Amino acid sequence: DAPAAGKVSTRYDLDKETELRFEVEAGEAGEPVELELITGMGEVFGSELNRNKKYTFGPGSKIAVFTWQGCTVNLYGKPEVAYVSKDTPMLLYLNTHAALEQMRKQAERDNERGPRVMVVGPTDVGKSTVCRLLLSYAVRVGRRPTFVELDVGQSGVSIPGTVSALCIERPADVEEGFSVQAPLVYHFGSTTPGTNIKLYNKLTSCLAEVFSQRCEVNRKASVGGCIINTCGWVKGSGYQALVHCASTFQVDVVLVLDHERLYNELKRDLPHFVRVVLLPKSGGVVERSKECRRDTRDEKIREYFYGFRGLTFYPFSFEVRFSDVRIYKIGAPSIPDSCLPLGMSQDDTQLKLVPVTPGRDLTYHVLSVSSAEDGEEGVRKGIVESPVCGFIVVNAVDTQAQVMKVLSPSPRPLPRHTLLIMDIRFMDMK
Ligand code: ATP
Repeated sequence: DAPAAGKVSTRYDLDKETELRFEVEAGEAGEPVELELITGMGEVFGSELNRNKKYTFGPGSKIAVFTWQGCTVNLYGKPEVAYVSKDTPMLLYLNTHAALEQMRKQAERDNERGPRVMVVGPTDVGKSTVCRLLLSYAVRVGRRPTFVELDVGQSGVSIPGTVSALCIERPADVEEGFSVQAPLVYHFGSTTPGTNIKLYNKLTSCLAEVFSQRCEVNRKASVGGCIINTCGWVKGSGYQALVHCASTFQVDVVLVLDHERLYNELKRDLPHFVRVVLLPKSGGVVERSKECRRDTRDEKIREYFYGFRGLTFYPFSFEVRFSDVRIYKIGAPSIPDSCLPLGMSQDDTQLKLVPVTPGRDLTYHVLSVSSAEDGEEGVRKGIVESPVCGFIVVNAVDTQAQVMKVLSPSPRPLPRHTLLIMDIRFMDMK
């Protein structure tokens, strides 16, 4: 597979322990860039490159090719930026992996559980990248770690507005990341934990419980431990959510990226047996603007319905009668304590299921299809804690006919009839 005709080729000779960083221009103007390893060995965020294979990176990609021993690579096309850096924290990250691997070995010997690791830090410090690296390294030495994604803004597993867990069985694909098969996904409904912190904490606990149950019956999962990616919100309730996560998952290690104050606060507030480690961020991590984050979120939803790269999905569009579904929003608007009914607390209102009367304002909203069995009152209690089985988007609402037109990955009928509304909207431009 020769590079596309007319693409300029640039050769880079990389010394050992250096990395080539490049960015592909975002948007319509961005032309994909191809990468090929010619000699030696190199890796992209913990996944090894095959020699003489061309990897394609689309608009907006920000990539680092790191080499432990030295290598030569070719880039085909015109990246927006491309430079070699000698100054990377990769050795520290590898040492972190080695320490975690020691803990797994010890767990194996003593019939205990492997390390549960939480990665924290402000936005744009490379948290997701560090998670990917540690997971890929672990799986490369034969472990089966679990990835827990708590970043509701930029999820690496499902669409935005969700929290999820995924068993990692092979290193991330160089171009596409981890293969997402059968993840466990919960509906949160918005892109920042602050919109409903009680719900966020509740879902974190749900994930922790399911993970612990799995560890009890699956020794490999237990020894592999987990790597938890968190949101970049590290103050106030955001900080409290991190402390809650550490406690509910009973984490053993917290990796703090590039934030000394957060490091000190967590050292102060977490039990003494939790190892809190401060790590530098990589100079290669690229800051992303609000628009860029919004575009990435949109793209994630588009991918869910339409597929990406070689894999094209053909979603369905059909009408759903209002009378056939029940739509809820999780969380009632907060009211002053003094106005709450006797015996009710704010917690109850934030976790309450509020029925939504379908109307035009539903248009473009993303809805989660809850896996909760369709039934009456009795099951309503379990809806918040039930995983979701998929998502649909409302493309149009006809209040006269009492129907809405939805975009769905599967044909009608919907597998379940309990729908949860997200704040997130998606306009289908296809
Ligand atoms: P957020 O809080 O928004 O989720 P984050 O802290 O998780 O951000 P990442 O998503 O890991 O940050 O990294 C941001 C971007 O920087 C990604 O596009 C990633 O591919 C890129 N990146 C990470 N490390 C490097 C590197 N060493 N060289 C070049 N690009 C990198």
